[in-house]
Amino acid sequence: MQMRSIVAAAILLAGGPLSAREALVGGTIIDGTGRTIENGVVVIDRSRLACVGSATECPLDRKTRRIDVAGKFVTPGLVDAHVHFAQTGWIDGRPDGLEDKAVYPYEATVAALRADPGRWHRSYLCSGVTAVLDTGGAPWTVTGPQTRDTDRSDRAHVRAAGPLITHGGRNEFYAYGSLKDEPMFLPMESAAQVRADVARLKAMGAAAIKVWYLDPPKGREDELDALLMETGAAARAAGLPLIVHATELRNAKMALRAGAHLLVHSVEDAPVDAEFLSLLKANDAAYAPTLVVGRNWSRATLSIATGEAATIDDPNRCADTAIMERIGKPQALHAAFLKDWGGKVTPFARRFEAVGREAYVMAGNLRAVRDAGGRIVLATDAGNPLTLHGPSVNWEMEAMQAAGMTPTEIIVAATGAAARAIGLGEATGTLERGKEADLLVLADDPRKDIKAFRSLTHVMRAGVLKPQSDLRVR
Ligand SMILES: [Zn+2]
Repeated sequence: MQMRSIVAAAILLAGGPLSAREALVGGTIIDGTGRTIENGVVVIDRSRLACVGSATECPLDRKTRRIDVAGKFVTPGLVDAHVHFAQTGWIDGRPDGLEDKAVYPYEATVAALRADPGRWHRSYLCSGVTAVLDTGGAPWTVTGPQTRDTDRSDRAHVRAAGPLITHGGRNEFYAYGSLKDEPMFLPMESAAQVRADVARLKAMGAAAIKVWYLDPPKGREDELDALLMETGAAARAAGLPLIVHATELRNAKMALRAGAHLLVHSVEDAPVDAEFLSLLKANDAAYAPTLVVGRNWSRATLSIATGEAATIDDPNRCADTAIMERIGKPQALHAAFLKDWGGKVTPFARRFEAVGREAYVMAGNLRAVRDAGGRIVLATDAGNPLTLHGPSVNWEMEAMQAAGMTPTEIIVAATGAAARAIGLGEATGTLERGKEADLLVLADDPRKDIKAFRSLTHVMRAGVLKPQSDLRVR
């Protein structure tokens, strides 16, 4: 107990004005590359890592402020390679799924999101997430302060892809009223059109070109495959990575042939084969399993259908308060649900059946990609109904462990590999000299069980260390 209060006092000091250098001393360092240093030292110089190693490798001068983390575990901050700033974690952010304009008009939901640029960042830092990729949303997700002005210690790093190029656009649900000039979907209708889309995204400042490649309707496969290739070529010419939603094996292979750098979801419909694995490796592409989002969509629908609020597993109290309030009142959308589904159970039961089948296929595919030496990254699809910004990283990492990945493999997927996949590999993601000082302190050993990320005691972003209790959202 005395030890703990000394640590607490030292950390309290660290919260004051920074001396030039400080050091976390005596912890087990898991650096995000696969390396572990027992009884290590992490030296932080302002916002950067100045040295990471043993006591001999990183000698400390008398001016360096020491913070004792003996018995604790130091990891890089988590990187979530698939989030949506324009989605809330409840169905109010997915009007194409269900909307009651009299209850939660999407225009008002977006206005609330834009009015508070720090909103999801608070949930991220509270959960130990220090970098994210927004894989698609309206133009404001690229140009707005939520994702632009993030080079500071109270924000996660953000890269944002912006509007999605797709043949399955649903702008009528999203771009109505005051939002009509802010399309979330760009058309995939002709070669000239997709080239214009890519030029528009490049001019907007998008960090990647995202194609929402829903399964092509029968008869349009060749036409749409050709447009996917054209989009890939235009992205390459523009110097932007291609990232693709393609959840069927055939479409995922097509995405890789088009040059995809990141598959933002698992292949869900069939076991991946040797051809898929060799395409993935040839592109050096990253594979984002997103294991929990489908199940959460179904749980959200079930909650609205039954009127019973879903239970939320939020160990570190990081879920957004306003969204928790809406999740707690599913009855508010029951009338809209009855209108949309006509009270029929069949489509609903089918969806649950599919989720069960897909979970099994996704787990097998994750192991196959791992066994083939493919690059796997942590990705939640946060913002979708009941996949909450922040705490969903714990659920996703635990699902990856249940699917058969080892904790050490998951740590690499959730840090160094994910940072590289989202274009931030030079800046963050591993504990290496010169990188940004984004790191976590855990009480439990994450090499034994990935659940240890629930025992988060401190978060450092850009060299500023905070106790997790100070970052709680609720
Ligand atoms: Zn998504």
